[in-house]
Amino acid sequence: MQRNLQFSLSTLLLAATAALAPAQARREICFPDLPGRVTLVCDFHMHSVFSDGQVWPTVRVDEAWRLGLDAIALTDHIEYQPHRDDVPTNHDRPYALARERALQRGILLPMGTEITRDTPPGHFNAIFLDSVVPLDTKDLFTTFEQANAQRAFTFWNHHDWKGEQRGSWLEVHTQLHERGLLHGMEVVNGSVYYPRAHQWCLDKGLTMIGNSDIHEPDRGEASTSAAHRSVTLVFAEERSLPALRDALFAGRTVVWFGNTLIGKREWLAPLFAASVRVDGPYLRTDKHVFVGLENTSDVDFVLAREGNVGPAALTLAAGTKTLVKIAVKDPKAALTLAYTATNLWIAPQQGMAVQIEIPGQ
Ligand SMILES: [Zn+2]
Ligand SMILES: [Zn+2]
Repeated sequence: MQRNLQFSLSTLLLAATAALAPAQARREICFPDLPGRVTLVCDFHMHSVFSDGQVWPTVRVDEAWRLGLDAIALTDHIEYQPHRDDVPTNHDRPYALARERALQRGILLPMGTEITRDTPPGHFNAIFLDSVVPLDTKDLFTTFEQANAQRAFTFWNHHDWKGEQRGSWLEVHTQLHERGLLHGMEVVNGSVYYPRAHQWCLDKGLTMIGNSDIHEPDRGEASTSAAHRSVTLVFAEERSLPALRDALFAGRTVVWFGNTLIGKREWLAPLFAASVRVDGPYLRTDKHVFVGLENTSDVDFVLAREGNVGPAALTLAAGTKTLVKIAVKDPKAALTLAYTATNLWIAPQQGMAVQIEIPGQ
């Protein structure tokens, strides 16, 4: 009996030690779910030693867990493998190595790859593949047809990266788009925002994507509003791979880039509404009401007044409640604070109108 007890205690201690090891601690990224949708934080572009990355595939899963991501895709280059002498070509192997580790951690891991051609046409990712191998062909359209035959979601990466014709929408892109083979674009790649790609997504109905394209190990301990990977927030019907794919095809995304959120008003407006809670008013005097505005998200909301109610400028810092003193004529009346959220971009560098309703008495 006592022996058993001792065994149990030491097992418990071991388990506790394992659970507390810093590498295993996860810090969640906070963006609220939307009505009927689960908000998934996703990075669909990263590399391992199987192409030009510097880490083993499982390390990417550990990083995703630690940094609070919900879904990642390993997207090693098909056509560029500088470590080939040490790590032989095996396109499906990065996914196979990482899959079990992702399952253990509840990280969604669609199989992915990066189609890597000189500009034009440039680089593209395909995710939700069954196998990368059939995409390893010379003809670009055959590669895209193979990806689409597997019901993969495809997007154009860092369109302004390299080559004389970089940053141009050319005939080949029109062909891919018109034949329904191309579904999205990176509006953000790492630390770079592409206003032209942003506009093309709006004009051509392409899904907006933001990714890290990380090659080095990620040494970050947590994702914060000040320091985080560029990621895509995806509004899925549930936390599953099929629902994630459906949401991407339906364009239900917002890109989190620095302290800016980029997306369609259709998704930014409910995200703002779900993130901001009104507490109070705490006090109503003859000339003022005092109210708390809580921001439950991980982005600071930077607001510029449009109407004549409330402070001229207002920043609701991430994860905090801000006390706001509002000058009023009638302290008992309901109030509407009309602002432009200057860091919620519904078009290139164009903020979004928001309203916050303060209840009357
Ligand atoms: Zn690339
Ligand atoms: Zn890449």
